[in-house]
Amino acid sequence: MVIGVVKEIKNREFRVGLTPGAVSSFTRAGHRVLVERGAGLGAGFSDEEYVQAGAELTDGAAPVWAQAGMMVKVKEPIPSEYGYFRPGQILFTYLHLAADQPLTQALLDAQVKAVAYETIVGRDGSLPCLAPMSEIAGRMSIQEGAKYLEKTYGGRGVLLSGVPGVERGNVVILGGGTVGANACKMAVGLGANVTVLDVNLARLAYLDDIFPRQITTLFSTPDNIRRSIAQADLVVCAVLLPGRAAPKLIRREDLAVMKPGAVLVDVAVDQGGCAETTHPTTHDDPIFTVDGVVHYCVANIPGAVARTSTLALVNATLPYGLALAERGVEEACRADAGLLAGVNCYAGRCTCRGVAEALNLPY
Ligand code: NAD
Repeated sequence: MVIGVVKEIKNREFRVGLTPGAVSSFTRAGHRVLVERGAGLGAGFSDEEYVQAGAELTDGAAPVWAQAGMMVKVKEPIPSEYGYFRPGQILFTYLHLAADQPLTQALLDAQVKAVAYETIVGRDGSLPCLAPMSEIAGRMSIQEGAKYLEKTYGGRGVLLSGVPGVERGNVVILGGGTVGANACKMAVGLGANVTVLDVNLARLAYLDDIFPRQITTLFSTPDNIRRSIAQADLVVCAVLLPGRAAPKLIRREDLAVMKPGAVLVDVAVDQGGCAETTHPTTHDDPIFTVDGVVHYCVANIPGAVARTSTLALVNATLPYGLALAERGVEEACRADAGLLAGVNCYAGRCTCRGVAEALNLPY
């Protein structure tokens, strides 16, 4: 099969669909890979590296879209790319169609076989192509939070590790899932005092086991949340109710109990956020302050570390990409029901229940 990789043109997106290492996996398996010149530069991969991996370079995206049997991307196509769609072409990328009627319609009209990273299900019921981004966002939440605690950004001027003779900073993490556990790892590594709140006691027991004597776990109730955030220098919101908006666990009036200059990193902003005062921000303008609390609410945190994010994403997507290239969508999905769950559009039909329901389409 001919595999296509183009430069991501969504604003501030620097990741790329395949690394040179992944390209060589495809070429070794007998596939042809076309890469738009400069596609990997944002993630630190040169054209020469792609050529050494066996890719053929093209000038511009059009020849790639025109020849590829499967396009491997990172972000959903933007309207200027819709004209490239071809019937029967496989599009393998993040799509988030439930919130994007025009793109869904364009994919259906063009009869594209659209396979979305975010709905592929692993054998253990996990979402294997989403997890790496949660791992990165969780780790970044502490790095960014520590930065915005600095005085120049309006923070409290607290060093999370403390120093000999001076107390450590307090980090409170709401939600101990993938984001929360990774935030926990970073905060513990820095030497902060860490408290994790969750409603899942098994999850709290797991975290208590892997960070023995290093963290405090608390059952998540409004009272425990309010008392914890009152002591916090940094609060990380990492709660997820699958398929639903994030619950508003921190109300506007709760900010009054927090320390002036404390930082709130609302990672769950992509589901509406856990704080009533949250609204999405960008890497260009990441923070705002409400009632003395610095809010960091960037909706695509992994974009800041495009190289690590690309490598982590491709680790997760490569086995599925190779299966699709080798067997085609139909046969690859017959062999893997989890990959079938990734197929959102097929032959002009919406084949993902959640997307169909959200957009009122026949399923
Ligand atoms: P996850 O499912 O692994 O973890 C969510 C946790 O929240 C679970 O342990 C669950 O028990 C817990 N929870 C549910 N209700 C709770 C409550 N009332 N109080 C405390 N905990 C509660 O999800 P995840 O992968 O860690 O993702 C967390 C959020 O981060 C999601 O909204 C995800 O979309 C988002 N995210 C954002 C970015 C970004 O760039 N902003 C990147 C990756 C993920």
